[in-house]
Amino acid sequence: MWALGSCGVCCLGIAVFTCGVVMQVGAWTYYYSEEDYEWDDARTYCQTFFTDLVAIQNKEEIEYLNRTLPYHGKYYWIGIRKLRGIWTWVGTKKALTKEAANWATGEPNNRKFNQDCVEIYIKRSSEAGKWNDEPCTKKKKKALCYKVSCQPLICGLHGDCVEVIQSYKCECHPGFEGDKCENAVQCPILEPRGAYMNCSHPFGDFRYNSTCTFWCPEGFERRGADELQCLADRQWSVETPTCTAITCPELRAPEHAELNCSHLHGNFAFGSICDFSCQPGFELMGSQSHECMATGNWTGDIPRCKAVTCPVLSAPEHGELNCSHIHGNFTFGSTCDFSCLPGFELMGPLSHECTAMGTWTGDTPQCKAISCSVLSAPEYGELNCSHIHGNFTFGSTCAFSCQTGFVLMGPQSRECMAKRTWTGDTSRCKAVTCPVLSAPKHGELNCSHLHGNFTFGSICDFSCQSGFELIGPESCECTAMGTWSKNTPQCKAITCPVLGAPEHGELNCSHIHGNFTFGSTCDFSCLPGFELMGPVSHECTAMGTWTGDTPQCKAITCSLLTAPEHGELNCSHVYEKFTFGSICDFSCQTGFELIGPQSRECMATGTWTGDTSQCQAISCPVLDAPSHGHLNCSHTHGNFTFNSTCSFSCKEGFIQMGAEMLRCSATGNWTRHPPVCEEDSAAFLKQVLVYTSTSALAAIGLVLSGTLIALLAKQLSDREEKKKLLNPTSDLGAPGIFTNAAYDSTL
Ligand code: CA
Repeated sequence: MWALGSCGVCCLGIAVFTCGVVMQVGAWTYYYSEEDYEWDDARTYCQTFFTDLVAIQNKEEIEYLNRTLPYHGKYYWIGIRKLRGIWTWVGTKKALTKEAANWATGEPNNRKFNQDCVEIYIKRSSEAGKWNDEPCTKKKKKALCYKVSCQPLICGLHGDCVEVIQSYKCECHPGFEGDKCENAVQCPILEPRGAYMNCSHPFGDFRYNSTCTFWCPEGFERRGADELQCLADRQWSVETPTCTAITCPELRAPEHAELNCSHLHGNFAFGSICDFSCQPGFELMGSQSHECMATGNWTGDIPRCKAVTCPVLSAPEHGELNCSHIHGNFTFGSTCDFSCLPGFELMGPLSHECTAMGTWTGDTPQCKAISCSVLSAPEYGELNCSHIHGNFTFGSTCAFSCQTGFVLMGPQSRECMAKRTWTGDTSRCKAVTCPVLSAPKHGELNCSHLHGNFTFGSICDFSCQSGFELIGPESCECTAMGTWSKNTPQCKAITCPVLGAPEHGELNCSHIHGNFTFGSTCDFSCLPGFELMGPVSHECTAMGTWTGDTPQCKAITCSLLTAPEHGELNCSHVYEKFTFGSICDFSCQTGFELIGPQSRECMATGTWTGDTSQCQAISCPVLDAPSHGHLNCSHTHGNFTFNSTCSFSCKEGFIQMGAEMLRCSATGNWTRHPPVCEEDSAAFLKQVLVYTSTSALAAIGLVLSGTLIALLAKQLSDREEKKKLLNPTSDLGAPGIFTNAAYDSTL
């Protein structure tokens, strides 16, 4: 751009140029001096006659000048000078811009100093139209002047007249256009959207310098300047502001929720309406719809989605409930598994899930007691069940009992267990068993069994073998108590009469079945001294009788004994006369003594003990004749023996002193002392012996009872005592004889 100041247009000098075609309005013209001047004078010249030294504005102008001006060897001053070290257009006092400079090669300041004014080479062989600095005082150049073509207000109030070659032009002030700069430039018509606008248009609507202020309705805030001005470049000073809806905090869908927003003025901005909805299975807690208010806040609090609740489940009876809750207890998505306690089975769905509808899938299950097989009463028995949960189901207990006479085999009660089986095995009623009966010894048994061998109801009949008789019941029955109605009988051997040993005998029995019973055999034997008369052996027959008659033991017989001479025989017979055990006592008459055994006994051998006894006369001392005397003896039984009598005689002169005669007494003593022959008188002693009644008494005693005899004997004895008292000399052995006789008679 060639921003030069305006200049008047007036040509003075040799050549007058009409301003060229550049300017449409008016013109400016160039002039040059005839003479050469220093720069200052040149300028004065131009200012005096024209406007000023020329101000080069553009290439066209340079070309024009170089073409139209005449060649001058010293060339022409132009209106550029160094002021305070800066090349300045003197007309406008504006510094030369680098772009506008048109220096010749090596210029300016090729001389390094004092070249402060500028000439233009016109029609120079080289560098024509270029500039060169020269000392301002160099007086050799023509002044190149121009004259402005512009007139005051020719360009109106809003333009400046600019000189151009042979003309002028209106340089409009910024914001204006048109030949006379009569029109303000037009900015785009503002049609704000959503904003209020108030404009002032000093040069027309939306033209240069129009200012518009903007504001926003409630809920909106302005983005951009509040005022726009239409600038000279037809543009608004700033971007048209916009009204942006006030934003609320961006909403996000809470968990399990969905957000559906309608944005009237922008995302989450004033007027936005957001509706919350929950995913299936959740319900909205809080208000559904929210609106972004002008304050930038949402109406209401943000809701949340709460899982839909299902009715609280509880464990079924006899069951358990195991729930897993995703969103909360018994809410949407919760799954509950049902299980049953041992012994129960689930009837119904195993699992429930809380649906989005707040209901559970499926019906509530139940825990039903597990069934066991139906039990029945055992034969001959009864069944008594108690059912806790149902007939023959888990926990049911059945007790078994049996009819009378039967005993329970197996468990007394059974319980239905969780594994569908009953405890224990099947119970049954078994007939009560009685002890097994066996045939009694020597007997037979033939039983009829109703329910089994030897059980309740069995009846057994008993019988015995020949020779035995049944002791006890003929039959018995097995009772309900397991005992027999009656005691088992026995077959007892038939008894024979009890045998006793025969007198003086022995019995030796062998009993097969019992004393003196069938089969018993008894042997008879006799004690020593006895011999058996009859069968040696008996046997007890089946008839209960003995074979044969009862034998006897008879004493063995010894020989017949007789009394010895001068003696007596007195036998006592235990059994029969002169048989075993008979004892015969021998006694001798007075004056005799027994030679041999005093007693003999019949022995078992049938012989008598000892030898034969004899009675020998008792001896008295042999008497000698006394001195002075003689002896004359007579012997009846032997010399100086019993009843021998010896008589003495004295010789003459002597008197026999003593007994005349001595008799050998039964005692073996002489009745008197032998006499002596002397003269002496002998004492007299008289003895009286009375035994006249002895024999008679013995005869009577034989026919009287022993008692009487004893009484009599006592009387007699008393009488003898009286006799002794009366006659103490009667000292004889007659009572002994009596006694013997008495005993003999009693036996
Ligand atoms: Ca120079």
